[in-house]
Amino acid sequence: MRIALFGPPGAGKGTQAQRIVEHYGVTHISTGNLLRSAVKNDTALGREAKPYMVSGQLVPSDLVRRLAEEAIEQLGFDRFVLDGYPRTLEQAQWLSDFLAQHDAPLEAVLSIDVTDDEVVRRLSRRRIHRETNETYHLDFNPPPPDVPESDLIQRKDDQPETIRKRLTVYTEETQPVQAYYEEQGAAVDIAGTGSVDEVFERVQAALDPYKQDASIA
Ligand code: AMP
Repeated sequence: MRIALFGPPGAGKGTQAQRIVEHYGVTHISTGNLLRSAVKNDTALGREAKPYMVSGQLVPSDLVRRLAEEAIEQLGFDRFVLDGYPRTLEQAQWLSDFLAQHDAPLEAVLSIDVTDDEVVRRLSRRRIHRETNETYHLDFNPPPPDVPESDLIQRKDDQPETIRKRLTVYTEETQPVQAYYEEQGAAVDIAGTGSVDEVFERVQAALDPYKQDASIA
């Protein structure tokens, strides 16, 4: 299965990707996670990407492309769920060509919808465990009582001003990508409201038909 997940920041792409991994046995490719680990490890790529990330802008496509390319190649062009890639039309076109060259087109493109207000509500209270990278929400998915507050960090780009910037970037740069897949009849809209389980039921309803290998993009 070759899947791509879309949705604004805070739509729950990472959480749903994790469920997809467990249920369908695919590997999660998150360009955001790959970039954050490059920043953490202070690599040359990480140093170049950091200023864009902390200000909520997109990292230049050639940098992100290298990460996506390497991850997809390592997986032998199959059994992956892309989260956060592609984010621009240029990236989507490159990805289509790259996958077509290896006869491995995307099979399912899911788009998780939530409102801007919901995004701000979710992200401003999101916290990450510094060791495990587990994601919590202080109100809706609080950390276990034995996790001290000092172990929780807030992503720099989860500050209200940066969230708004990320939403603008999403509307301007990434929504046209959704339209690109819609034109190819490939995009499936998923309502992102409700519990993680409820959203995953919708995801499953959308993905199960693609288990039969109907290639589209
Ligand atoms: P995410 O964790 O997916 O929200 O990504 C965090 C940040 O990483 C984004 O706000 C961008 O700065 C950068 N990033 C992740 N994926 C991409 C991409 N496909 N193109 C450009 N920048 C990206």
